[in-house]
Amino acid sequence: MKEAATIQKGINVYAVRKQFPILNREVKGKPLVYFDNAATSQKPQQVIDALVNYYSNYNANIHRGIHTLAEEATAAYEATRDAVQKFMHAALREEIIFTRGTTEGINLVAYTWGRQHVKEGDEIIISGMEHHSNIVPWQVLCGEKKAVLKIIPITEEGELDLEAYKKLLTSKTKIVSVVHASNSLGTVNPVKEIIKAAHEAGAVVVIDGAQSTVHLDIDVQKMDCDFFVCSAHKLYGPTGVGVLYGKKKLLESMPVFQGGGEMIKEVTFEKTTFNDLPYKYEAGTPNIADVIAFKAALDFIQKTGKENIRLHEDELLQYATEQLQQIPSLKIIGTAKEKVSVVSFVIDKVHPQDIGILLDNQGIAVRTGHHCTQPVMDRFCIPGTARASFAVYNTKEEIDALIKGLHKTIKMLS
Ligand code: PMP
Repeated sequence: MKEAATIQKGINVYAVRKQFPILNREVKGKPLVYFDNAATSQKPQQVIDALVNYYSNYNANIHRGIHTLAEEATAAYEATRDAVQKFMHAALREEIIFTRGTTEGINLVAYTWGRQHVKEGDEIIISGMEHHSNIVPWQVLCGEKKAVLKIIPITEEGELDLEAYKKLLTSKTKIVSVVHASNSLGTVNPVKEIIKAAHEAGAVVVIDGAQSTVHLDIDVQKMDCDFFVCSAHKLYGPTGVGVLYGKKKLLESMPVFQGGGEMIKEVTFEKTTFNDLPYKYEAGTPNIADVIAFKAALDFIQKTGKENIRLHEDELLQYATEQLQQIPSLKIIGTAKEKVSVVSFVIDKVHPQDIGILLDNQGIAVRTGHHCTQPVMDRFCIPGTARASFAVYNTKEEIDALIKGLHKTIKMLS
């Protein structure tokens, strides 16, 4: 990667790139251009080092041991909880529950708060741009409880129709669960307004922050969401770790999710008493190494600067959008006023899958298909899109390579 180009706002992108070893590799004889960040981001060296360091030097099970390794592992694991609390501006550390990821977080709420409160005839509202992981758990719950799932429609630009949303809210609405930033359209939803209206109707709100947490400032207290979920692997951290934030009084009032070690205080055959928060929801040996390495990812983000990252990604999004719009046969799907750095597009008479394969031949990784949002594809009457999603280490030169690759693709296929 040439360093001659201007250093983009606030960050030295070339210095950032040096921290990601994978960016040195080639794919099909070409330098890797990684534009599949919405699926998972690459990991900086410090995250990889944190994993190696844990397994090399203090691998032990946490909380129950009194030996040195167990104490060191426990301290590192709990330090991540403190870092997440700070990162999301949660009021209390016990409001941070470690999960396997966004999917598990949503399922946890559906199986606990949902099962406890949703009754026959009640209503759950989600939006038309949800990831399957924010559709299926609610469908299952509605099926079990004979409740009704209602959908907030999407406009042609890929924004939520808020007027329609407000009309969907009734005294029967128990849960509103919406995505903060769409993984297939890039749209940033006005979650504060959505939450306020839901609360006025007496519903609790789950925010799917899988895509927003890496791009936007997250302040769960200002947002006033009841639950917020995200995945570490989209935040430059490891796979297999996620966060469920919940307001303390809700988490305390909910039934347990999984039973087992760690989530109990005392067990007899007659009766079990459950542990305090957050351990009540962390049954069994957790993903210790990856939780510990997640802190290294958050440290990377803090050190690089959330605002710097956002400015850089905004610049990439704007540049990519302008360049893509100049290709006559290409149409961008998702043109909301406020977007994260995700661009989905279709090209006349070219299947998204073919775009993906031909770009891969040029070393460029984009995602193609329905992006686990099939209803979004149905809404726009398309089988799928090609999606380029940008991270802090991407550059304008890489976007130029994408545009060149697309011209080549179009030429080959038409
Ligand atoms: N919601 C959104 C908006 C997502 O983009 C994703 C991941 N693609 C998920 C939920 C699910 O996240 P995970 O697979 O990490 O549980």
